[in-house]
Amino acid sequence: MLIVMKQDATPEQIAGVVEIITAMGYEARPMPGRQRTTVGLVGNDGRVDASRVEAMGGVAEVIHVTKPYKQVSREWKSEPTRVPLPDGTSIGGRDVVVMAGPCSVESEAGIMAAAHAVKAAGATVLRGGAFKPRSSPYSFQGLGKVGLEYLAQARAATGLLIVTEAMDAYGLELVSEFADIVQVGARNMQNYSLLKECGRQRKPVLLKRGLSATIPELLLSAEYILSEGNPNVILCERGIRSFDSTTRNVFDLSAIAVAHGLSHLPIVADPSHATGHRDMVPAMARAAIAAGADGLLVEVHPNPERALSDGAQSMYPEQFERMMREVSAIAEVIDRRVAIAGGSAT
Ligand code: PEP
Ligand code: MN
Repeated sequence: MLIVMKQDATPEQIAGVVEIITAMGYEARPMPGRQRTTVGLVGNDGRVDASRVEAMGGVAEVIHVTKPYKQVSREWKSEPTRVPLPDGTSIGGRDVVVMAGPCSVESEAGIMAAAHAVKAAGATVLRGGAFKPRSSPYSFQGLGKVGLEYLAQARAATGLLIVTEAMDAYGLELVSEFADIVQVGARNMQNYSLLKECGRQRKPVLLKRGLSATIPELLLSAEYILSEGNPNVILCERGIRSFDSTTRNVFDLSAIAVAHGLSHLPIVADPSHATGHRDMVPAMARAAIAAGADGLLVEVHPNPERALSDGAQSMYPEQFERMMREVSAIAEVIDRRVAIAGGSAT
C-alpha cells in the first residue's frame, strides 16, 4: 500500500502517518519526491483497513499496489532507479554501463591482461567469477578468495570497478568485501536466503534471470533484496531455456522492454550467456542497447581457446573493441552514452 501525501503536507502530518503504520505492526518507508512525499507500507497489506489512514490530515490518496511485487514496481515508484557506482557513474540513468571480462578469474596475469584490454576499449566494470556455479562438479570451480584478490589488484591497476558472483549466503560477506557489484547468478535467482543476505549488505546487486524464470519471478526475487533494505538492484536478462538448442539459451530481448514497463529498476543484458557463441554477441549487444538496456555484461578473454570456462562465447579483445564502437553509436542515437568513469551523464 502507498500513501500519497498532499503537496503541502507538513512534516508532522507525514510523521503521523508513519506512526500509525508502525502502530498497526507494519514498516513505514517515507519516500520524499520532487512534488510530494509518499509513504510505503511494507508487509502483507491484504488486511489493512485503508480508511484509518485515508482520513488523516495531509493524506491525498491511498494506492493499493496490485502486483505481487511491490517495492520494485512502477506503481510504487515511477521514476527510474539509478544505482550509483563508486566511480561516479550510475546504472539506470543516461549512462550505458559496460561490464566485461572473462567468465572466471583464472590467474593473476590473465585477469590483469583482460582488465587492460577491456579498459582500453572503454569498459568501466571488470567482470570475472572467483566462485563459479558449474553444471558439473568436475569442471573448474574458480579460484575462490585468491581470485577476489586478483580482481582487487586489477582494479587497483586500472581503476575499473568489479562485478563478481556470490554463490551462497555463507560466502557473501567475503565477496561483498571485494566487489563493487555483487552478482547473483541465474542458478541462484531463487535462492531466497542468499537474496535476503544481499538485501542486508550494502553493495549493489546484479540479479540474473533464472534459466526458466518468468519476468514476474525475476521481479519477486528482486523484491526480496529491496524488502531487506537494499534499493540498489540491477536486473539482468541472460537468456532462457527453450526447445531450440541452436543457441545456448534464447535471448529474450523483449524482457528489457517488459521489465522497464513493470519496474523502475535498471536492466542490463548478457548476450554472452544468452547466445553461447562469440560471433553472435555483438549483434545481440547492439540490439539490447537499441531496446533500452541500461548496460551490458559480456565475456571477453585475451585467449579464449585457453579459457577454463565459457571460451566459445568469450570475445577476442578486437571483437569487443569493435562492439564498443558500435554500441556507443547506437547509444547516442537514443540520447544515451556509454559510461565514462568519473562522471554520470545527466
Ligand atoms: C556468469 O556470469 O559467468 C554466469 C555463470 O552466468 P549465469 O548465472 O547467467 O549462467
Ligand atoms: Mn560464464
